[in-house]
Amino acid sequence: MKHSLLHTQTHHTARALSMRRLLRDGAPHERKLVFGLWLLSLAASIGLGLATVILHWSGLPVRLGGIELYVTVYPPLVICMLWTLTCGWWWGAVPGYLATLMLALYSGMPPGWALLFSAANPLGFAVVALGYRAIPISRHLHNPGSVLFYLQLAFVGAIFSSSGALVWCYTNRIGSNALLPIWQGWWLGAFLQSVVIVAPLLAVLWPRIERWQSARRYLLVKPGADPRRSVLRLLGCVSGGVLLYGYATLQLADRLLLAQSGGISPGLAAVMAVARDTTWAFYWVMALIVAFIAFFGYQMFVHWQSLTNQLLDELRVANQRLYTLAGTDSLTGLHNRRVADERIAAEWQRARRLGHGAALLMIDIDHFKRINDGHGHPVGDEAIRMLAAEIRAMTRDIDSACRYGGEEFLIILPQVDAEGAHAFAERLRQRVAELPVACAGGTLHITISLGIALFDAAEQSHQRWIERSDHALYEAKRDGRNRVVLRSA
Ligand code: GH3
Ligand code: MG
Ligand code: MG
Repeated sequence: MKHSLLHTQTHHTARALSMRRLLRDGAPHERKLVFGLWLLSLAASIGLGLATVILHWSGLPVRLGGIELYVTVYPPLVICMLWTLTCGWWWGAVPGYLATLMLALYSGMPPGWALLFSAANPLGFAVVALGYRAIPISRHLHNPGSVLFYLQLAFVGAIFSSSGALVWCYTNRIGSNALLPIWQGWWLGAFLQSVVIVAPLLAVLWPRIERWQSARRYLLVKPGADPRRSVLRLLGCVSGGVLLYGYATLQLADRLLLAQSGGISPGLAAVMAVARDTTWAFYWVMALIVAFIAFFGYQMFVHWQSLTNQLLDELRVANQRLYTLAGTDSLTGLHNRRVADERIAAEWQRARRLGHGAALLMIDIDHFKRINDGHGHPVGDEAIRMLAAEIRAMTRDIDSACRYGGEEFLIILPQVDAEGAHAFAERLRQRVAELPVACAGGTLHITISLGIALFDAAEQSHQRWIERSDHALYEAKRDGRNRVVLRSA
């Protein structure tokens, strides 16, 4: 109960498939299948990446609702995004990186730049992976919430991937005019592919893969400790991505505008200057708002989380209280029989393991029926309470005193020998005999009988220990009551 409540928090957040664990603990045929598919994907990504360059699939113009847009088709993105979404970042990032590296080197990019350039897609995948790690939303794409979340992540991921366009244009010495279509083609292409191709495939594949993975939890990466950190990173990525997108688009459009504004009239130039200034002012205000929303969102999350934690703490305390209550006798405040049985079993194990002595005392009030019959139940209750108080006063912290039944009590004395246990029992017997119990006519006195059973390492179960103490008590009763009988074995 306690555990399931504590674990609901991490229940939905996804865990990646660990390559190391799959290699070490995976079944041979599954290992072969997964790594085989992955290597195949790697080869396909490299081949299709080269095809993108050779067949000029980048920056294809598309007219959408009267607007000229550019779309880049990059099949490795689809393959690697699927790996990222289903198995984790490394699975998508490695083929994604290598495919881009190959095409970059093929098209003559300097190796240093190529190494940087290839990180663009893995960067986009990182946003997607981080998003699913930070927020416990399913990848099923069954409901509007999960679809919207996917779309948002895909968009920000696409923006991050498109940072590669800037490197591409710089290293290919592509002028400002051509930069905008390439940049736009890049992010729009990545986003559209994520929506039109990856999303339906994910919706079909994910339920199966999730089932496969949840039957093999030992192959998954261990969950991270602090969800706050991944949420913070996600918010940072998302707001950074939005700001980067806005900045790059405006900057590129700005340059394009400037490049084409040669020879326009001074009046028009002034109008353009106003428009540009306004646009940039708008951008910086928006940047501030985005930063504020991210900050606010994070604060909300932390607040919500501390509230949840507080609630869980309270629940834990309430559970603890309930547990204590369930083990407490209401008349005397001592432990009840349930706890007594647990404690006896535990002490029996402990004594066996550590090899020291222990004693079990069974106590019963003598002729208690007469008190009940002669003075009424309330006086009987008072006698029980008095005896309980006396037991509590005489026991040490390590002893366990319990009300075992009606007017029967049980005391576990760890780390005592026969002498110590007997002395304790005798002291208790004498004290109880001396103490008056208030009743209608004045006071009355009660006596108790005590049976002691010492721990016996040769015994097979703690039940036998209880039985022996019971027998000892029976003997004390039989021998005339108000006495102590000790049974060593
Ligand atoms: P013995 O010396 O052989 O123990 O005689 P006894 O009369 O004490 O016999 P027994 O132990 O069988 O009697 C227990 C009685 O305790 C029976 C029951 O009515 C009474 N009793 C059990 N629980 C309570 C309680 O919570 N309050 C009161 N007042 N009486 C109780
Ligand atoms: Mg009894
Ligand atoms: Mg009795």
